[in-house]
Amino acid sequence: MILVWKKMPLWQKIFIGLCLGLVAGLTLGQTALMFKPIGTLFINLIKMLIVPLIFVTLITGITSMEDMQKMKRIGLKTFAIYLLTTAIAITIGLGLGILIEPGAGVSLDAATAVSAKEAPDLVNTFLNIVSKNPVASLAEGHILQIIFFAIMLGISINLAGENGKPVAKFFQSFSEVMFKMTDIVISFAPFGVFGLMAWVSASYGLDVLYSLGEVILGVYVGSVIHMALTMGGSLAFFTKLNPLTFFKGIISAQTVAFTTTSSSGTLPVTTQNVVNNLGVSKPIASFVLPLGATINMDGTALYQGVCVVFIAQAFNVDLSFANYMTIILTSTLASIGTAGVPGAGLIMLSLVLSSVGLPMEGIAIIAGIDRILDMARTTVNVTGDAMVAVLVAKSEGELDETVYNNTQEKVK
Ligand code: ASP
Repeated sequence: MILVWKKMPLWQKIFIGLCLGLVAGLTLGQTALMFKPIGTLFINLIKMLIVPLIFVTLITGITSMEDMQKMKRIGLKTFAIYLLTTAIAITIGLGLGILIEPGAGVSLDAATAVSAKEAPDLVNTFLNIVSKNPVASLAEGHILQIIFFAIMLGISINLAGENGKPVAKFFQSFSEVMFKMTDIVISFAPFGVFGLMAWVSASYGLDVLYSLGEVILGVYVGSVIHMALTMGGSLAFFTKLNPLTFFKGIISAQTVAFTTTSSSGTLPVTTQNVVNNLGVSKPIASFVLPLGATINMDGTALYQGVCVVFIAQAFNVDLSFANYMTIILTSTLASIGTAGVPGAGLIMLSLVLSSVGLPMEGIAIIAGIDRILDMARTTVNVTGDAMVAVLVAKSEGELDETVYNNTQEKVK
């Protein structure tokens, strides 16, 4: 038995953890909450990795691209694809909302309404990217600030030429060490996923799935459409690679994203999958993925689309074409400021609602099922990051297609 488990590929172990967690939560009910600490331990282990991993891998990503022109090109390309796919995602979300009409027949009354959390304003979100104290940012885990500082540091190391080499080497070795630590933490994933799944299914039960079912349906169907058509389609069209191989290669990251609902938290697994299974070069992965985990939120945008339409319908507000355009723009920008942590999308939803004057109270209703929606949107977020890493790597000639196409290896 132990031997079978040892030989089993990681993604299968994670999947077993997920199924067992679901069964435990649904059959044991509240008793299954005792498994929650296992999930919390896993999340803490992963959180422990985030700051040093983002910091050192991003610096290494930049210093290993000494050619500044190339770096600029990759940066622009990455950013442009991130924004474009996010805008497509929210359009799918809005479209599905209009089609499914999740809010038709729902009447929201004041009794269920609680005040929404305050949304951060966009100007401040952007100004705050520059940290006044990078050490404090690292200590407090301000991811966007850390990213900005790491990019500045990486560029400066390159500009320093020979004198900067020892520092570059130090970070290179540091990032190898962090990758090793990631391997260790990830091997615990099946148990962590079990604990998280048991907790979620015990606290939500099947009842919640029935009420507000259409919002859940909209977000899940939209997620599948976006992953299959936008992402799978882009891969097939632009890289001529087999999309199924791609999805097979990132299944571990998807499962971890689904259960932890944090793209930053999943970053170590995403990086490992993208490099080991899909053949993306380490410099590209180290540059594209930390950025993506922080600013690329296709799933979140899609979810906001469905929810905005739901809330508008539930409150009998007619949205105009201009409203829809505003929503697409605000949601795309808001996704940059959405942290890759659980529940962040719900807070940003208030920003999108206020951009078109929709009642904040709608958030209270969504909050009840947000975890279930977060599971889908985080999976899409992470898949999008990996897809862009493959696209960029392929376009730069930094994709090892032998690794990509080697399906035997993919099961690790
Ligand atoms: N949980 C999501 C993520 O980490 C963000 C969100 O709440 O939408 O990707």
